[in-house]
Amino acid sequence: MQIHLEQVQGMLLGLAVGDALGAPVEFGWTAHSILAKWNGQMQDHRIPAGYYTDDTAMALCLADSLLECDGYNSYDVMSKYLKWATAGYRASEDNGMPASDIGSQIALELERFVIKPAIYKNRARLTGAGNGGIMRLAPAIIVTCNQSEEESMRLAKVTSRETHYSKEADASAEIFAIMLWQALRLDDKNAIVNVDKYSTGTLFDSILNRIMRTKNLDADKYLKDLGGYVVDSLKIAVWGFLNFDSFRQGMIEVIRLGGDTDTNASIYGQLAGAYYGYKAIPTQWRTRLRFCDDILEIARKLYEQQPNKILVTRFEEDGKEYFKDLPQQ
Ligand SMILES: [Mg+2]
Repeated sequence: MQIHLEQVQGMLLGLAVGDALGAPVEFGWTAHSILAKWNGQMQDHRIPAGYYTDDTAMALCLADSLLECDGYNSYDVMSKYLKWATAGYRASEDNGMPASDIGSQIALELERFVIKPAIYKNRARLTGAGNGGIMRLAPAIIVTCNQSEEESMRLAKVTSRETHYSKEADASAEIFAIMLWQALRLDDKNAIVNVDKYSTGTLFDSILNRIMRTKNLDADKYLKDLGGYVVDSLKIAVWGFLNFDSFRQGMIEVIRLGGDTDTNASIYGQLAGAYYGYKAIPTQWRTRLRFCDDILEIARKLYEQQPNKILVTRFEEDGKEYFKDLPQQ
């Protein structure tokens, strides 16, 4: 089956547009105040209009690493995230300053990476999970879009785990990977999010159940002002995707729910962007977005080059074929 470049570009651009739209209303705004004051455009507030945050910067780091290494190298990916955190690599400010929008879990994991890059089997898994593992997922799905769904799920899990070492984050990354993979192929939105046949276990099933229950839920009552928990973000993204008929309307409604607006919008933006294609993203949002043309070009390169092989990881659990205990590069 031919996957359309325009949809692949929509997945990455949707991520960045959602990030740039949601970031200005992320802190200090409630759903109530967003409804009253937000005009549905990128705004100069906290950051200049059209600038993006950690979600997009990290996705671009991942994309660069895949392209440069011609596959997935855990150490190189983490080194690029570190370069973003310490020297603003791929940050929208582009001024060489340390990233100002780094989440606490990601900061912690980057600090650990500097001290001890390899992760052995005896390390305890975290409980619970933030949404940071899936906010940057698009490049991993683009490079595996012509592979089997299992390959997409596998790479998604590997990329999420770098900073979110929990079973819940793994299962959430698998679920979202399948949804994105299907959004590139199917027309029926319900079929896209019904991913139960790809279950990898009970945790996958229970998270998916919770997401699907949200479909017809009263969003005002249950989805407003939620924090950065990965399952909540997936609920919001799927709700926005199923209940509205355009990229734009779904995006606006997702952001109006408040809470972790930029990341919720990045996650929705990947799904809706993959489904509708990048040309369905309103022009006034595209033209305002920082580095829009570069982002489209990066998506095109990922799509054409398809660097989807896992080369080396820093996790002992991946076995001798992939695991290497290397110093930080
Ligand atoms: Mg952010």
